[in-house]
Amino acid sequence: MNIPFRRITQTPTEFNTSAEGVTLKGEVVFKERNLALLQAQLSGEITLTCDICAEDFATMLNEKIELLVSDGVYKGFNETYDVIEIEEKLDFDELIHSEIELIRNDYHSCDNCKNQERN
Ligand SMILES: [Zn+2]
Repeated sequence: MNIPFRRITQTPTEFNTSAEGVTLKGEVVFKERNLALLQAQLSGEITLTCDICAEDFATMLNEKIELLVSDGVYKGFNETYDVIEIEEKLDFDELIHSEIELIRNDYHSCDNCKNQERN
């Protein structure tokens, strides 16, 4: 699922895509020139690898995502939002995969290791 940037208007466009058991649902709205604002909720169950014991474990995601979408190179600076650069088309499937990748690349510890850290 994707949308050409020029079709993003001030009337929010809703989207809903899923990958690997995770759903990304939200809307995107035109802001100015080559910028749009995307607000979405990432939810579902994901399998992560514990950084301590290297065991896989499942966890529920429920994350709010707010991104500025820039058609072309973003030259400004924005403290409030992360910015993603696209070329003419906003691809929601690509977006959900990169969001899942970002979460996977974070530091994670399974419940067992978390409990041991506390003791
Ligand atoms: Zn662990």
